[in-house]
Amino acid sequence: MYTTSSSIWFIVFRLDSLIKKKMHPFTETIPNDLVATIVARVASSSLADLFNLKQTCKSLYGFGEDDLVYKQVSMEKFPDLPWTLPAQAAFFLQRCQETENPEALFRLGMVEYFSHGQVELGRAFLARAVCFGHIAASYVLGIILLCTDRQSILEGMELLKSVQRFNKVSKIRIKNILAKMWKNHFIVPEGSICSDPNCNKNKRMSNKGWTLEDDNNEEDIDCDACRCDEQVRLFYKILRGS
Ligand SMILES: [Zn+2]
Repeated sequence: MYTTSSSIWFIVFRLDSLIKKKMHPFTETIPNDLVATIVARVASSSLADLFNLKQTCKSLYGFGEDDLVYKQVSMEKFPDLPWTLPAQAAFFLQRCQETENPEALFRLGMVEYFSHGQVELGRAFLARAVCFGHIAASYVLGIILLCTDRQSILEGMELLKSVQRFNKVSKIRIKNILAKMWKNHFIVPEGSICSDPNCNKNKRMSNKGWTLEDDNNEEDIDCDACRCDEQVRLFYKILRGS
């Protein structure tokens, strides 16, 4: 079965082989912008495909070294927390961070905030990842803002609402990332965000408990503040490793 990446991959080689028959390199017959877009698209689908593509010719290798490619490259197969890396892999990661690859910024933010205890730096990296639409970063930063101070609660609520609107977050993945790191900074829920003592949903959810992937339960809660309370409690549980 063809995936999106394998389809692009097929197109690249098909065009390349056709053009080679006329003794013209593929990358010299179509505009550079289009080649760069194709290479970046391959990179966003698969790191392995990008690696293979760069091996095909000197010209494509050059396109593969463009900042746009590192910004968009998929880090799916790259270790979440690469404490020790071969030099080449470390260089790759550094380029991803420097070019503001959203996933690289997210991982960097998690390490700085929770492991190194550099809370301002960690928040800045997460916020930058949020700017590029990173859903997991939006979720984590939203939780952090809900637990920081009263002034940041509204911003945190908005972030969590945006996450819920666009996508679900794999909390198991976030749990796996946090489980692998030595944590030096914890966030602690300071009290209920929902201040309505008569909020029935709040009472019901407090009694119900929660699990890692029970986002469906959220759909039963029509109070935004209670929904945030639920997520903060869940994240705290994940962070403590319980
Ligand atoms: Zn409520």
